[in-house]
Amino acid sequence: MLDPRYAQLFEPIKIGPVTAPNRFYQVPHCSGMGYSRPQMLASMRGVKAEGGWGVVCTEYCSINPSSDDMPFPHASIWDNDDVKNLKLMTDAVHQQGSLAGVELWYSGHSSANLYSREASFGPVSLPNNAMVGMPVQTQPMTLDDIVELRGWYQAATRRAIEAGFDIVYVYANHDYLLSNFLSPETNTRSDEYGGSAMNRVRLIREVIEDTLETVRDKCAVAVRYSIPADVDDDPLELIDMFKSISELPDLWDITVTDYGLEMGSSRFVKEASTQAAVAKIKSMTSKPVVSVGRFTSPDTMLRQIKRGVQDFIGAARPSIADPFLPNKIKQGRLDDIRECIGCNVCYAHNSLGVPIRCTQNPTMGEEWRRGWHPEQITEKHADESVLIIGSGPAGLEAACALGQRGYAVTLAEANTELGGRISRESVLPGLSEWSRVRDWRLGQLAKLTNVEIYPDNRLDAESVLELDMQHVFVATGASWRSDGVGRYRSSAFSGHELDSVMSVDSILDGDMPSGSVLIYDDDHYYLGNAIALKLREANIPVTMVTPEARIGGWNHHTTEQHQLIRSLIEAGVEMVCDRGLVGWDGKIAQLECIFSGDVFELAADYVVPVTARLPNDQLWHELQAQKSRFKSLQRIGDCLMPGIIATAVYSGHKAARELGERISEIELRRDRIVSTKLEPFT
Ligand code: ADP
Ligand code: SF4
Repeated sequence: MLDPRYAQLFEPIKIGPVTAPNRFYQVPHCSGMGYSRPQMLASMRGVKAEGGWGVVCTEYCSINPSSDDMPFPHASIWDNDDVKNLKLMTDAVHQQGSLAGVELWYSGHSSANLYSREASFGPVSLPNNAMVGMPVQTQPMTLDDIVELRGWYQAATRRAIEAGFDIVYVYANHDYLLSNFLSPETNTRSDEYGGSAMNRVRLIREVIEDTLETVRDKCAVAVRYSIPADVDDDPLELIDMFKSISELPDLWDITVTDYGLEMGSSRFVKEASTQAAVAKIKSMTSKPVVSVGRFTSPDTMLRQIKRGVQDFIGAARPSIADPFLPNKIKQGRLDDIRECIGCNVCYAHNSLGVPIRCTQNPTMGEEWRRGWHPEQITEKHADESVLIIGSGPAGLEAACALGQRGYAVTLAEANTELGGRISRESVLPGLSEWSRVRDWRLGQLAKLTNVEIYPDNRLDAESVLELDMQHVFVATGASWRSDGVGRYRSSAFSGHELDSVMSVDSILDGDMPSGSVLIYDDDHYYLGNAIALKLREANIPVTMVTPEARIGGWNHHTTEQHQLIRSLIEAGVEMVCDRGLVGWDGKIAQLECIFSGDVFELAADYVVPVTARLPNDQLWHELQAQKSRFKSLQRIGDCLMPGIIATAVYSGHKAARELGERISEIELRRDRIVSTKLEPFT
């Protein structure tokens, strides 16, 4: 039942000519699906509407082939086939009584047009700054080009109406073309579109006016706009320009100019961190304002509304981690909310050009292709028992899903504390929110009377056989190698067996080195650098060495790399790049230049290699020899395939969903764009 305290969150709110059923607003967010996976996209967005999000938007949706972000699958609204595909989404959203929004997008120098090979417009000729880093520049726009661009926006708006959208965006931030006109750094034109702030905002004003005229009250017009997080320091005059257009659109979708803050991971940025900027905008317009802040707490949401900071609770990540967040608040099920942990694994996969996934929500992206629903699961196939060995993310997720299916589940854990790697890693600097992966699942398990949990119970093959269970899931995780074998080297470094080589696991278990440390990072994600920060907190001198060009290479995909390296610099961590560890004599490390092979020496008291892991699968092998004693026996999570936490959660969930299903009947539907006009090849 809805707690009356939160009733305000469920008030309908007018956005120009349309009305949102409540204040929960899924802002435009990347999905890695876009134009190329229309059915996955429609189901994913439809499930969010079903979960109570009153407004559900697309990702960036290109208006013309000269704005193409290949190999990243953005949405597009270039032609009638796109309209048909997008209609799948608007229908799915409307079926649930929610509004559908489309973020019309023209890139400029931020995409490379690798598919269309068209020249990209820019206010002037700007170097391409797309992630693919192409050495090309934009075409400086003439006044005729500006007229042409406005025409493209109008045509795209007409197609958006045809596709059934209720809200059409003018997208004027994130370093795309319209925001390039706003900034005197990227707009050095000398005509009426450059120079003064009022000239620089002219194109945005015109596009907003054109869009309003085109929709003619059939849809609302929203504008996505950014101002600096520090509102007293506005060198680009974004606030002045805002004043001149503040009453034009029907809704403002506000962020800050620092994307690292807007999209900040929980390691570096906390909930509601942009509110000063949002409040500033809210005080300057009578139009409703939406903004994000990785909101997962209904109390924080309510505070934002009551204090007049914003009208809508914007969300991308919290809606990915829990598509049913609004309904859970409405039903008074606050402890069922699966809170986003702010790891940015979702965004990382969009950056890799593939469908997003989520550490917390294993069904994200699988709504259509596997038919998984975040709140529904098939009942058990038979009255059978399941033993799960290990309570890391894989074991906990499997226990939840199997418990919800109704099996008699026994979960055994060797340690006194549950949670596996989550419990050991979330105590590292900045990672405390990751404990939500464990805590949410323990909360769900506490409600299931058919799941019994036995901590402090290390099982061996004999004890497993004695338990006489029908199904066994081995979720015993993986252990870090300390011999340096990893991506750079497939053989151990000399001296790896010395006592002064400490394993990652021993540090996670609480051992601390008593002198200077060389962390050799050939893993390139968070663990090596989080350990470095932990050691620095204890004032231990640390040098990080990596064969890559920068520390924490994979954090580039999660948008964390800059903040990460800055935090390492601030903590006094020395960094040595492009070097592989080849030898260690207890005092001196031999580091090989990855290009020339020249060997350099570096002194330290300890070496901690962070390179790769080995599955803890010995128990599984022993049981495998007796597999006729079980109806099924399988490895899940890191014991099967060491990986990121999201992979372990997914593995546990998938195995639980598929228990008792005939593997040949398990379908992985393949989404693809099907052209309605197939032309014969000549
Ligand atoms: P994953 O990421 O695959 O879930 P983790 O390493 O996080 O893996 O968790 C594995 C868990 O399994 C750890 O908590 C570990 O203590 C537990 N474990 C390992 N071997 C046994 C065993 N023989 N009996 C019970 N628990 C075990
Ligand atoms: Fe949140 Fe991580 Fe899921 Fe993204 S992947 S929604 S950041 S929990």
